[in-house]
Amino acid sequence: RFITFEGIDGSGKSTQSRLLHDHLTGTGLPAILTREPGGAPGAEDIRRLLVEGDPDRWSPETEILLFTAARRDHLERTIQPALKAGKTVICDRFADSTRVYQGAARGDLRTLVDRLHDAVIRIEPDLTFIIDMDPDAALARGLARNSGEDRFEDMGAAFQHKLRAGFLALARDYPSRCHLIDGNRSANDIATDIRAITQATA
Ligand code: C5P
Repeated sequence: RFITFEGIDGSGKSTQSRLLHDHLTGTGLPAILTREPGGAPGAEDIRRLLVEGDPDRWSPETEILLFTAARRDHLERTIQPALKAGKTVICDRFADSTRVYQGAARGDLRTLVDRLHDAVIRIEPDLTFIIDMDPDAALARGLARNSGEDRFEDMGAAFQHKLRAGFLALARDYPSRCHLIDGNRSANDIATDIRAITQATA
C-alpha cells in the first residue's frame, strides 16, 4: 500500500510519517519511510539542485521538470520495488505537493504539472493524509527550525495561506484517497487519528 503525507511546511507531516512508519513496523508490517523531493540517490542529487541556490535559480517550468525527474527516479528506484516486495510505502510529500506548490501557488502551471504526471508518473497513492494547520502557526514553526539553506524558505505568510487553500481544494478533488487531518493538536492526538484511518482503510 502506498501512503502519502501532504501539507504546508511546518504542518508536522514529517513527524507524522515517522510515527506511522514506527507504528506499522512495530506491529510487524514491512514498511519503508521515504520523502520527496528525494528518496533515492539520484533524486536526492536533484533535491540539492532544487533547494540550494538563489530563489530565482530556476524558472517555474524548469522547476516542475526537476521535481518530476526526481519523482520518476524515486518511483523507479525506491517506491515501485518496495511495493512489488509487498511493503507499505510511506512517503513524506508526493505528486500532490507539486500540484499545489508548482501547479497553483506559483503561477497557473497546473496543466503542465498534470501532463507530466500523466506522461511519466501515473501512479496515485492509495491513501493520503493532508495535515491541515493554521498557516501562521506553521510558518512560525518552520522559521524557528530553518537552516537558511533552503531557497524555498521565507516565502511569507500570504504564500502559506495560498498553499493551505490549495491543499484544501486538493482534498475536495480526490475525496476517496484524501483524509484531511486537523494538525492544530498534539502530535500524539494526530497520530492516533492517522493510525485509526490507516487501519480502517486497510
Ligand atoms: O518537505 P521538505 O521540507 O523536505 O521540502 C523541501 C522544500 O521544497 C520545502 O521548502 C518545500 O516547501 C519545497 N517544495 C516545493 N514544491 C514541492 C515540494 C517541496 O516547493 N513540490
